[in-house]
Amino acid sequence: MMRELPLKKILFWCPRCNVPLVGKKCGCGGEGKGIPLLRPYDARPALQADRDTITGLLVHHFGTATLPRVVILNKTGGLDRKDLVIANGERFGWLSFDPFARRHHLEVALGAVPFLLGSAEKGVIDVGDLNGARQDLRQGKRIGGKRYPCRGDLPDGPVIIRWEGHAAVGTCREGFIKVREAGKAVPVSFPDPNWEEVIRKNAHSLRNMERTAIRFIRQNTRDRRCVTVSFSGGKDSTAARELARRAGFSDVFFVDTGMEFPETLAFIRSQEVGTVLRGKDFWQEIGRKGPPRKDDRWCCERQKLEPVKKFLAGKGECITIQGNRWYESFARSSLAPVAKNPFYPLQVNLSPILNWRAFEVFLYIWWRGLSTNPLYDKGFERVGCWMCPAMLESEWERVRELHPELHGVWMDFLQEWGKRKGISPDALAAGAWRWKDIPPKMRAGK
Ligand code: SF4
Ligand SMILES: [Zn+2]
Repeated sequence: MMRELPLKKILFWCPRCNVPLVGKKCGCGGEGKGIPLLRPYDARPALQADRDTITGLLVHHFGTATLPRVVILNKTGGLDRKDLVIANGERFGWLSFDPFARRHHLEVALGAVPFLLGSAEKGVIDVGDLNGARQDLRQGKRIGGKRYPCRGDLPDGPVIIRWEGHAAVGTCREGFIKVREAGKAVPVSFPDPNWEEVIRKNAHSLRNMERTAIRFIRQNTRDRRCVTVSFSGGKDSTAARELARRAGFSDVFFVDTGMEFPETLAFIRSQEVGTVLRGKDFWQEIGRKGPPRKDDRWCCERQKLEPVKKFLAGKGECITIQGNRWYESFARSSLAPVAKNPFYPLQVNLSPILNWRAFEVFLYIWWRGLSTNPLYDKGFERVGCWMCPAMLESEWERVRELHPELHGVWMDFLQEWGKRKGISPDALAAGAWRWKDIPPKMRAGK
């Protein structure tokens, strides 16, 4: 039987300080309450672009730009981007991206209501505006899960429904409201700490995490003369590199795939990376093999592993410290902390942050005052090639906004390639090129 990994499936939150916690205990001495996370359980801070997106939707639907300073996102499966939004120690809602309409959507959860009621200037209606709902309540029936015609001209989108000390959340679509959850709810004001406060309240846990990771690196590098650090320019390898540095190792290498974001290349230049490796000409490879796909990532081997293999071949037995994490994807959740490199047996990979969530990674980076790749603040959840098939359509939309020239080059290439393959321009625009075998969810469209 496969051993169950010690994944953290719950995020603890101190109700007194209103901060998320790495462990169960808060720096104030209090104990956190648990919020169940969703697979793959990778909670992360909402950064600038995420906040801007949520705020824009709050303004649009509720007429308020008030959002707590500390918001956590928990990515989960969906058609494209789908994040559970957590704030004030509660489920706040869901942020998703519709790859066909090319728009973000926000659904609010009942947990957001006490906070939103204090500032919402629209989007809050009386239960009497739902035909038949008040009657259902009088008869002791539930309204959650039901669909009611609504009075008046209500725009499509999330709504809050109120009645005597209670509220429900729902979604309005074409004159009907689908009620999701209902319960007791009154306006509440919450303390609004910033991320520095979150770091302060978690300092003890951060110190422990660091100590454990450094001890792990030291124990597994004893008697080894060759230790390298793999740095991708992403947040995980930023944290791993810092831990390696503190353990005494700073032979850092980066692989330039040839399709790196300009932001990543600039970040790498600012980071004193000793060795920059290069893969083959990516465009030439694409010309031969077609675009890399989610289910055919030939590029990983060609553009990344091969140059690393060559680099390490000259070193013989060697250990590489890297920033892999269990929570990144279902595929990574089976990695071992010490693992032989399947492509190069003389090589051992050490993953000191395997059991860190993105939440811990960012807190650690901020606690240690390190800089991060600016792409995270610009709406990217992970950093890779600028045309990576594993990218979300919401991220590809950001590429279009930030780097229209790169976006244009790729779309032109796809149009040409799609013509030869018989893939319609609409399907290409919605991201169908990302799969060799297009999944039914993408085929169905809207
Ligand atoms: S980041 Fe994406 S496109 Fe780049 S090598 Fe990896 S899988 Fe391929
Ligand atoms: Zn506390």
